[in-house]
Amino acid sequence: MRALILGGTTEARQLALMLVDRGWEVTSSLAGRVANPKLPAGNVRIGGFGGPAGLTRWLIDNAIEVVVDATHPFAEHISVSAAEAALATRTPLVALHRPAWQPGDGDRWIDVADMQQAAARARRDYHHIFLTIGRQQLAPFAADADNLYVIRCVDPPEVPLPPRHRLILDRGPFDVDGEKRLLKGNQIDCVVTKNSGGKATMPKLQAARSLGIDVIMVARPPLPGGSAVTCVTTARQAMQVLSGL
Ligand code: NAP
Repeated sequence: MRALILGGTTEARQLALMLVDRGWEVTSSLAGRVANPKLPAGNVRIGGFGGPAGLTRWLIDNAIEVVVDATHPFAEHISVSAAEAALATRTPLVALHRPAWQPGDGDRWIDVADMQQAAARARRDYHHIFLTIGRQQLAPFAADADNLYVIRCVDPPEVPLPPRHRLILDRGPFDVDGEKRLLKGNQIDCVVTKNSGGKATMPKLQAARSLGIDVIMVARPPLPGGSAVTCVTTARQAMQVLSGL
């Protein structure tokens, strides 16, 4: 079988490896945002397709038999492209998105619907704010000249930043003790994060919990495609669905 995996996540790499091991012809697609990406097994292509029409063309030209949208849960545009291109070409679409985090005992979460709400809330209620939201959605915070922002991302941001900020370029892995040191050392009173889910970036939440620090949790955007999309949360589940095609 010939599969396209829209990737950029750990789960996408896990699935690519499983499929390649079983003899599938797999192409993983990366956006090309990160300077030095971890490459999955199988074929890799890098860069946008040119919206839904470009992806539709690519699926036809490459005789793709199944598409797996294993992009980050907050990568909205490529998921819309995947849903539209799959519909247009009648290609089965499997969405592989890790489960969202759920609050536990001791968590002090403030749930917001989007980054604008997160920025308004952070500005109003906090002073030393840790932004761990990647580098593309920082703009809503840029107008806040009153508070101090510690911004951590993998590559340098290319959008306006709040005037009072400290930039940390780091891709992890992070552990709870290190995250606690960062929060305490910068007198952080609020962490802003997207509800990405997964274990890799969970230590910041555990650190915030143990220090009693508030977390502004930005909810995931809705997944496009409706009931035509088969949704799974692990690479193994995706493998099972694909094996049944
Ligand atoms: P996005 O807003 O959905 O993507 C913007 C555009 O980038 C898309 O319209 C598409 O261009 C291109 N693109 C995105 N993912 C692609 C892929 N896997 N292969 C080919 N083209 C892709 O996504 P984003 O938030 O910028 O994220 C970009 C990539 O980084 C995603 O693949 C995602 O898995 C990964 N990532 C994102 C986050 C996050 O927080 N958003 C975190 C970790 C990893 P065209 O319209 O030209 O096709």
